[in-house]
Amino acid sequence: MKAEIVNGWPQGNSIRILLTETSTAQVNSIRRALIADVPKLAITRVDFAQGINQDNATGDVYESVNCLPDEVIAHRLAMIPIPTHPEEGIVFPEDCENCKDMVEKDKGCPSCQILYSLKVQGHPKDSDEDLKYVYASDLTVISDPMFGLKEDHQSIPITLLSKGQYLQFYAFATLGRGRDHAKWSPVAAVAFRPQMKAILNKPKKASALFNLGLTTTDGKAIDAKLFGKDKTITDINHIIDLENAIHQVGAGTGRDGAFDNAITFEKVDNSFVFTFETDGSLTPKQAFNGAMKELKGRFDNLSGEIERAIA
Ligand SMILES: [Zn+2]
Repeated sequence: MKAEIVNGWPQGNSIRILLTETSTAQVNSIRRALIADVPKLAITRVDFAQGINQDNATGDVYESVNCLPDEVIAHRLAMIPIPTHPEEGIVFPEDCENCKDMVEKDKGCPSCQILYSLKVQGHPKDSDEDLKYVYASDLTVISDPMFGLKEDHQSIPITLLSKGQYLQFYAFATLGRGRDHAKWSPVAAVAFRPQMKAILNKPKKASALFNLGLTTTDGKAIDAKLFGKDKTITDINHIIDLENAIHQVGAGTGRDGAFDNAITFEKVDNSFVFTFETDGSLTPKQAFNGAMKELKGRFDNLSGEIERAIA
C-alpha cells in the first residue's frame, strides 16, 4: 500500500489521503484503527472542591453548587480536546514505570498524567449581571504549558454560575483509546471512496452542466477546458467537486435528458481517497501515523504468535 496526501491538504484538522495498491479491507482497518486504537489524552478524573467559601474582602458567601451535576461537568470536561503531542513520551498509566505497582488512588505522575485546575466564582452580590459563564479557557494547565488548550477550544462552555456559587476542581488527563470511551477517539467523519476519473463523452450535451457556471473549490470553471485535451479529469479534488456538481444535472432536475450522461466516472483499480478530520487533539498527520503504528504493532504481534504456534 502507498499513501500520499492529496494536493492542498491538510486544511485545518481535515485531510484527504490517496491510498493506492491496496484493498477495501486494508483501508477499512485504517479507518477502524483511527477511531478506536490511536491514543489521545482526555480528562478522565475530576476532584471537585466542596463546601462554603467566604470572600474576605466583601464578606460574600459562595457555595459549591451550580446548575449542572458534577458528573455532567466531568463528562463535558472529558470531551474537550487535549493537545496530545505523541512525540513527548507521555505513557499509559498502566504502563508507567513510576506508577504501575501503586494502588489505584495513588497512580498518576508527570509521565502519565496532565493536571489542570479551575477556580471560578459567580458575580458579586451587588453586580448588575446575574449569570457567569465558565469556559474551557478558565482551565489552567499545571503540567507543561504545551498541554494548554488550543485557541479553537477555549470558547467551549462548561457551565454557568449564579451569584453566590463557585466551581473549583483539579482535572487529570491520561492517554486512552477510543475503544474504551468516545472521549479518547481523536477523529470524526472517517470515510473512504474509490478513486475515480471522469471522462467527457459528449462535449455538446455536457453544456447542460457547463452552462450552469459552477466552479471547483479552488475557483476553476467547470467546463470543457477542465477536462483538457484527453477529455479526462484525474485530479482528486476536481473529481470530488465534479461529483457534487453532477447532481445539478441528475435525475429529478429536469436537465438529465439534455445532459444524457455526457460525463461518466470510472473507478481506478485498488485506489481509494481516504478522508477524515481530527478533534484537534492531534494533527491529521499525527493521527494517520498513529493508526499505521497501531496496525503495524498488531501485525508484528500476530506474526510473532504464529511463529511461536508453529515452532
Ligand atoms: Zn505515572
